[in-house]
Amino acid sequence: MNDNGSTSRLSFRHGVHPEEFKELTANLPVERIPFVEDYIIPLSQHAGAPSIPLVQKGQRVKRGEIIAKAASFVSVAQHAPVTGTVTAVELAEHPNGLLVTAIKIKADPFSAQTVEMKKPKPWQEMNSKEFIEAVQTAGLVGLGGAGFPAHVKFSIPEGKHCRYIIANGCECEPFLTSDHRIMVEFAAELVHGMTILRKFIPAEKLYIGIESNKPDAIKILNDEIKKQGTDYEVIPLKVKYPQGAEKMLIKAVLNKEVPSGKLPIDVETLVSNVGTLVALDQYFLGVMPLIERVVTVTGTAIRRPANLMVPVGTPIRHLIEWCGGVKEEAVRILLGGPMMGVAQKTLDVPVTKGISGVLVLTDNEVQDLTTYKCIRCGRCVEVCPMYLNPSVMGLLARKDMYEDMEPLHIMDCFECASCSFVCPSGIPLVQSFRVAKSIIRERKAKK
Ligand code: SF4
Ligand code: SF4
Repeated sequence: MNDNGSTSRLSFRHGVHPEEFKELTANLPVERIPFVEDYIIPLSQHAGAPSIPLVQKGQRVKRGEIIAKAASFVSVAQHAPVTGTVTAVELAEHPNGLLVTAIKIKADPFSAQTVEMKKPKPWQEMNSKEFIEAVQTAGLVGLGGAGFPAHVKFSIPEGKHCRYIIANGCECEPFLTSDHRIMVEFAAELVHGMTILRKFIPAEKLYIGIESNKPDAIKILNDEIKKQGTDYEVIPLKVKYPQGAEKMLIKAVLNKEVPSGKLPIDVETLVSNVGTLVALDQYFLGVMPLIERVVTVTGTAIRRPANLMVPVGTPIRHLIEWCGGVKEEAVRILLGGPMMGVAQKTLDVPVTKGISGVLVLTDNEVQDLTTYKCIRCGRCVEVCPMYLNPSVMGLLARKDMYEDMEPLHIMDCFECASCSFVCPSGIPLVQSFRVAKSIIRERKAKK
């Protein structure tokens, strides 16, 4: 064992060690929450173009049926999470704080809620083009949070080659345990999902990267790999944040650096979240498209922390109610973990495909918003996993000098918040980088 309790030394340079708090839910099996009355399915739950609705108000839909189609290549289909009636196609609040068009469905209280999906052709008989189309039709996006359409990632560009596939089971954000439970409870589906993917992307080696604070998942997956007769390898990794970021994971597992501005495929690697691979398996075996996911509802201010199986589109209010509500000290609700999660102002936003956790925090845990001057201590520079200089970039952001941030590689910042976490002056570095990046992107798009 090394100093942080991890049994592995494989990792990346820099990063931080926030307290884990995973014991609240790590050993709690996934429970299915009852169906509720109303669902909200935003047409934009993924990177890329919003899906195009195929239904209208008053129309009856069945659980698993396609209700919106992909708008372009970088877009996916959406499906009804319940059997019921469409009540509206209108603007609704999205967890990202924006108003987006959503399909609202009232569940039929008398329906057995069995999935009625159009089964895909057997995957063994598909060619690569059919596979990519099927993944897009399944509505599959990366379930780790970024929501990037899975079929785009699985489309290896011409001239590129994929030698390694890494299933990402790190789940390095404190509090969250949804991926952990997926690996423990859906190990067979995960390993089989990797086998399906390998048929279409014939990589030489397949790995499952897991932080070594999940010994049960490591054991179960090793057993399952043997049982299914595959040569995949479970790689236990040092417990460190942000170990689950793609570039950090590749460094830890393969000891390869993804260069600035490049993608994992530029080092012949594809990374996919473990939940995405389970969802892939479930679609190709005709179980269901992506209409539900595991969400950890946790935090010291939630009465009964739990891991829940939740239909996409369920308002988060119901998850919190199912977990006994919040304690009096509750002051903040985040979707996601404490490092990269997004604070919510209403409980009426729905669970979307990329949401792995609902975190309720008390006053003591919420960062004091008082900020002081940068004291040039250099701590932010020491922890940045991308070797950026958050201190200088923070100063430039405060003066709106966004153009000057580009040569400092601001676009390589993936908003892990490690710099903000260690800053003794409480400077909201990551928030200012988020704004700077979107302004730079906008300006480029206008040009
Ligand atoms: S600058 Fe970006 S990548 Fe570096 S620590 Fe801060 S948020 Fe993370
Ligand atoms: S950690 Fe904060 S105070 Fe220290 S150099 Fe970075 S921005 Fe300045």
